[in-house]
Amino acid sequence: MSPGRPVPPPLAKPLPDLSSPAPAAVGRLAAAYGATSTHSGLVPLTIARRAPKEDDVEIAIEFCGLCHSDVHATRGEWRLPEYPLVPGHEIVGRVSRVGTAVSEFAPGDRVGVGCMVDSCRECASCRDGLEQYCERGNVGTYGVRDPRNGGELTQGGYSTSIVVDKRFVLRIPEALDPAAAAPLLCAGITTYSPLRHFHVKPGNAVGVMGLGGLGHMAVKIAKAMGAVVTVFTTSASKVGAAVELGAERVVLSKDDDAMDAAARSLDVIIDTVAAPHDLNPYLRTLRRDGALYQLGLPPEDMPPVQPGLLIRRRLTYSGSLIGGIAETQEMLDFCSAHGVASDIEIVRAGQLNEAYDRMVAGDVKYRFVLDTATLHEPSTEADA
Ligand code: NAP
Ligand code: ZN
Ligand code: ZN
Repeated sequence: MSPGRPVPPPLAKPLPDLSSPAPAAVGRLAAAYGATSTHSGLVPLTIARRAPKEDDVEIAIEFCGLCHSDVHATRGEWRLPEYPLVPGHEIVGRVSRVGTAVSEFAPGDRVGVGCMVDSCRECASCRDGLEQYCERGNVGTYGVRDPRNGGELTQGGYSTSIVVDKRFVLRIPEALDPAAAAPLLCAGITTYSPLRHFHVKPGNAVGVMGLGGLGHMAVKIAKAMGAVVTVFTTSASKVGAAVELGAERVVLSKDDDAMDAAARSLDVIIDTVAAPHDLNPYLRTLRRDGALYQLGLPPEDMPPVQPGLLIRRRLTYSGSLIGGIAETQEMLDFCSAHGVASDIEIVRAGQLNEAYDRMVAGDVKYRFVLDTATLHEPSTEADA
């Protein structure tokens, strides 16, 4: 823990034993780590999970990936959130209980939850299976008031359990390692969706900007689709790693000559950079009818895109938000079939704050994953 951060309070209540089923219609307490203010860092918390309603699935969480969005959200970099805020939307675990109307899942099944736990289910986007673009706003896995559950504040996966409507629960193929599969629930689907939207085919030239959690998944998934991959990185230290991941070419984006040499060589670019940056040098690397999909959501404004660059080569500058539930299941099955998963470093609960600082410094290959079994351990970070 960094100097000046308050010592976390001890857990207020004894924690439940998820191996013993609670009586029906009774909620559970879950051990969690979350933020209590923009500067609190992550501290131990005890949160209440509702009893499964008829369509609900209760999950004993095993692993949860750490996404850069968790950092932006808990630190209030996008907007001031409601606290306490338990982040985490790359959740993998086993079903512990199901509601009376759930026949799709049974206790013991390995399942996942991504960035959404509900949506309106009625608007054009929801009907099209694009719940992430729900016109009334999807219900995020954390930090959102959930209209179907009495306006309760959703709390994410840095916790020992979660209760989610069956429509937003994914099947994790048993062939996938559960810890390495967790980042697929955000980093995987967020990069898979735009690659599919562009209809990437074998032989297409795909560029990936930023080699972090999303970026390394973009490389792996694009390779599995048969693409030829170029990585743009600001980190000279990642060149070798990018090649090991399968990139045919690595361009140091701070090297103007290298950027010029890449002009008009790519069909599509997946931009995963988490900080403001100038897109124009990257747009110059696209061929006619190319597209740049912006996935990174920096808290600050970015320099404007030059219209002439878009016009002269009929380029598309697009955004893309995670993926729908059906597409997320398709992605999980695709990754299982192609042996694709995330390169991870497992962290204990007491290492979460250090992991956030390392993520901001770009010091992770390529995704931290929390082992939720360690949420029960007394915090030692305050003593470090
Ligand atoms: P990450 O693991 O931290 O990776 C971001 C990468 O951006 C870094 O590894 C780094 O790669 C590059 N970068 C360049 N300059 C940077 C700077 N000044 N600060 C930070 N990174 C810099 O983050 P992530 O979890 O992949 O998330 C990436 C972004 O996507 C975040 O903004 C996140 O909020 C957003 N996101 C969007 C969606 C969506 O649905 N659109 C979903 C999830 C996440 P190099 O060292 O190779 O340059
Ligand atoms: Zn995420
Ligand atoms: Zn909707």
